[in-house]
Amino acid sequence: MAQKNNVAMINLILFGPPGSGKGTQAQLLEEKYNLHHISTGDLFRYELTNNTELGQQARVFMDKGQLVPDAITIGMLKNKLLSLGDDKGFLLDGFPRNLIQAISLDDLMKEMNMEITALVCLNVTEEEIVARILNRGKTSGRSDDNDESIIRNRYQVYLDQTRPVFTYYEAKNRAAMIEGLGSIEEIFGRLCAYIDSLK
Ligand code: ADP
Repeated sequence: MAQKNNVAMINLILFGPPGSGKGTQAQLLEEKYNLHHISTGDLFRYELTNNTELGQQARVFMDKGQLVPDAITIGMLKNKLLSLGDDKGFLLDGFPRNLIQAISLDDLMKEMNMEITALVCLNVTEEEIVARILNRGKTSGRSDDNDESIIRNRYQVYLDQTRPVFTYYEAKNRAAMIEGLGSIEEIFGRLCAYIDSLK
């Protein structure tokens, strides 16, 4: 396990298609393992709400269900990780979303003398994803949650660009596929069983 100031740290990537339940499980994991929950989607939405320059740059891509360009995303994530400054581990949600981001994260971890403990992927089918996001769209207020073609585009982006990140971590023996159908508690139980097996 990675060490920083002699304290054992868990640094996780929570992975899976949009709408696979990452946000819900992230909150539970954050509490149980005392982690910083870092969601790039939430970071972007914060910038959007505050109408910052970064938010304005990101909006164009987010509204179409495309990835925000790497230079913007990696810079934002790097600032966030560098600002943590304590001995708590972190849980990344929504990053890395392509291989370039995965390699940048490796470089950053080396620079910070830290490492990723594991990537856990929630496995959910496309039809379940579309149904869940349309349902979430009724209350989330997110424009990218209301239009089926944008949702399907986000899923396609996941297959084309994001899934290879799973294979990348699998090759390092650091990836686990977790069944993402079932109750919130069941899925959380599966995630914890895997994470606890790493200690
Ligand atoms: P989802 O519910 O689709 O998983 P998120 O809330 O994680 O969505 O992200 C919303 C949008 O923010 C994405 O569709 C994308 O435009 C942008 N985004 C989030 N994370 C990244 C990233 N790592 N790289 C590029 N774009 C990102």
